[in-house]
This record gives sequence, C-alpha cells and structure tokens, in this order.
Amino acid sequence: MRRQRHVDVLVVGAGPAGLTAATRLAASGAGRVEVLEREARPGGVPRHCHHGGFGRWGVTGPQYAESLVEAALGAGAAVRTGVSATGWAGAMSLDTTGPHGLERITARAVVLATGARERPRTARLVPGTRPAGVFTTGELQQAVHVYRQEIGTRAVIVGAEPVSYAALSALRHAGVEVAALVTEEARAQVSPVRAAAARFGVARVPLVTGAVVAELLGRGRLSGVRLRRRDGRERVLACDTVVFTGDFVPDHELARRGGVLLDPGTRGPAVDGSFRTASPGIFAVGNGVHAVEPARVAAEEGVRVAGPVRAHLAGAGWPSGAVPLVVESPLRWVAPNRVAPGAPAGAEVAEGPGGPGGRFVLRTTEAVLRPLLVVTQDGRCLHRQRVRRRVLPNQGLYLSGSWAGDVDAGGGPVRVAVG
Ligand SMILES: Cc1cc2nc3c(=O)[nH]c(=O)nc-3n(C[C@H](O)[C@H](O)[C@H](O)COP(=O)(O)OP(=O)(O)OC[C@H]3O[C@@H](n4cnc5c(N)ncnc54)[C@H](O)[C@@H]3O)c2cc1C
Repeated sequence: MRRQRHVDVLVVGAGPAGLTAATRLAASGAGRVEVLEREARPGGVPRHCHHGGFGRWGVTGPQYAESLVEAALGAGAAVRTGVSATGWAGAMSLDTTGPHGLERITARAVVLATGARERPRTARLVPGTRPAGVFTTGELQQAVHVYRQEIGTRAVIVGAEPVSYAALSALRHAGVEVAALVTEEARAQVSPVRAAAARFGVARVPLVTGAVVAELLGRGRLSGVRLRRRDGRERVLACDTVVFTGDFVPDHELARRGGVLLDPGTRGPAVDGSFRTASPGIFAVGNGVHAVEPARVAAEEGVRVAGPVRAHLAGAGWPSGAVPLVVESPLRWVAPNRVAPGAPAGAEVAEGPGGPGGRFVLRTTEAVLRPLLVVTQDGRCLHRQRVRRRVLPNQGLYLSGSWAGDVDAGGGPVRVAVG
C-alpha cells in the first residue's frame, strides 16, 4: 500500500542542478519543495570528486556538495535521501521507494534533475571476457572515496579528456599505477602531461592515441586489454584494472517512463529556454538535459528554472507550439533544443562564452577548426557565429541565443550547421 502525499514542487535528484533549484524555489515562497535523492547522501556527482575545481579554486567536490545541501536545507527545502523515483502514476504523480516504504507523491510542478551517467563497457560493446576490475569513472570514485575498496595495481584509462584525469586522480589516490591513457582521437583533449602535472601532480602518463580497446582479457580478474590502432595493428597492454571514462548519456529513464519527449541528439528531455519539457508541469535541468558540463552550468540552470516554475505555479500557460532546434553533422546535439514563442532562447547564463542572456550548448562528433555556426529556418539565415578555436568532441561549444526573437513560431525547424 502506497502512502499518498502532496507537495508543491518535487525535484528528482539532489545534485547541483536539483539543489540550487530547490534552494531558489523554497527561498522564494514556492510552497512545499521536496528533493528526492536515491543515494544515501545528497550532493550528486561532486560528492565523489575529491579533487579541487568546483566553484572557487581549491574547493573540492564534497565541500561544494556540502555547501549546496546546506543552502537548500537553510532555505526550507526538504531533502530526502535513499528515496528513488521509480515511475509515474499519472501526469504529475511519481511513485517512490525508500526507507519509509512505498509512496505516491503528487506535485504541482516536477523538476527532473537526474544527471548523466558514463556508458559502461557493455553499452560500448567492448568484446572479451567478463572479469573483475572493470569500472567507469563514477564507479571508481565511489569505490575509492566512499567505500575505500582495494582497486588493483596497474590500470588502463580509456579516454583522454578532463573526466579521464579525474579517474587518474582517483587511481593515484588508491595507489594504482597508470599504464596508459588510450583514446580513439588523434590527440588528448588536454595534454595529459600538462593536465596531470598541473592538477594531479603526475609527471608523465603514457598516452596512446588513435586506438580503441578491442577486447578485455582474463578470467576472474582482468589480465590485460587488447588495443587496436586505426591501421589494424594490435597489441596487448597488461593491466588488472580498466576505467572507461567520458561518453556520457543523460539519465533519462524516468523521463522516458513518463512519456516525456526526448531529444534524439542529447537523448535527454527536450526543453526550451525556460527548461520546460513538452509535458505541461514538467521541467528538466542539469546534465540530464545535455550530459556533462561543469557543475557551475548545472547549478546555474537550477537557479534559472525557478522563475518559470513559479510562473507555472501561478497559472501561466504552457506553450504548445515550440519550434524544434536540430543540428547537422559534424554537430552532434544542441540544448536547449526547442524555441518556445516568447521564451528566452537558450539556457540563460550569468557568464560564459555566450555572455549575458540566452545561450545554447553544443557538441561535435569530430574535431573542427574555428567552426562557423550558421542558424537558419526554412532557408532564412538567422545568425552566424565564428568560434575562434579548435573544437574537440566532448568539449563544450556555445552558441549565442540573440537570434531567437527572429524565429517564425509557425515555421519549420530551426537548423544549426557548420558553414
Ligand atoms: C568524474 C567527474 C569529474 C568532474 N569534475 C568536475 C570538476 O572538477 N569541476 C566541475 O565544475 N564539474 C565537474 N564535473 C561535472 C559535475 O560533477 C556535473 O556537472 C554536476 O554534478 C551535474 O549536476 P547535476 O545536478 O545535473 O547531476 P548529478 O550531479 O549527476 O546529480 C544527479 C542526482 O540525481 C540522482 N537521481 C537520478 N535519478 C534519480 C531517481 N530516479 N530518483 C532519485 N534520485 C535520482 C542521482 O543519484 C544524482 O545524485 C565532473 C563530473 C564527473 C563525472
């Protein structure tokens, strides 16, 4: 038997996005604001990131998470841990399971802030045996920093981007030698020597570019990985630990179960610049909308969603005719990915490459040198913007939303391409 309860705003996920949304909403008198978190402690991914780099220089992930939790509680939000939202029982009712049993919570507004997850070895279709010693960065960080488990002696990190260096940091903390960083790309996203030396105090980490992990070897425990280069050459690297890093996908299962429209590019809920999904009353923010951005971006989105949520609680209408925003290769996705009439264009940010006002986050499928971003609708050019740097896959690319007022609400999709 489920206990039935009612709240004004239900936030799912107590990471930076969910906690800042709850803080702002509770502080501004939005009524009963409740945050659900399936983990034993609130704070989201930063709880496991023991390196500095969150907010002010030197602030570690757990310190940052703690400050966000204190702010939410101080503002009057209820933060409930160990509680998972498992499904929907109608448009605005969520079923949950937690230490106090099963509940059905009905809300006037729901904010999905469920974050993103790294694709594990199985989702990456890496062949081979099924030995112990295989991690994603998130699993590794929890094992090292939360559960203090034995990890192994020699590791290979798959990926060479900022999150890979977080894996490197956790491995070093656990006393594990790093045999190599392996990336399919032609170069690391940040020089491992520079990044590691500057951030994690590692003088030199071998880097293998243009190669994939073609097979995991070993029974019981991992004994090595078979690497395959682009030209087909193969070699085996001995290791007892492998960490698959990056390749994030939004944690979209709950949204999908609720029939919330997903964007085919991001695979998270499709949202407009006010973080409204296509389902009235349901908002989505943070990495669940666009996979991994710095924590500051997710936290800002939590702040920015508060106004639209309050407007909804006050009876503002829900736009029905949002124009879809689509990308063309080599762009992979864009978020927000709908332009609603009268709403801000992109996710507004206080600072960043887009400057004040709306901006969109994009990703590419390949490295592109100084891309010219061209925005069109039905063949009409709305905006051109030159990005004056080399853009790498999995690296943030930002587009100003200054053109949004020129979108024809009755027209076709808005297209973003590289000119
Ligand atoms: C390894 C790593 C290192 C990073 N390092 C940095 C860094 O140095 N600096 C920086 O600025 N950023 C860093 N980031 C990025 C930063 O952590 C994220 O941008 C930020 O945590 C995103 O916040 P979020 O609230 O969107 O999601 P998350 O932090 O992922 O929080 C989502 C929460 O929702 C909960 N949840 C999901 N589904 C449910 C459900 N159904 N019911 C209940 N709860 C649910 C999850 O348990 C989770 O706690 C790093 C990320 C990673 C993965």
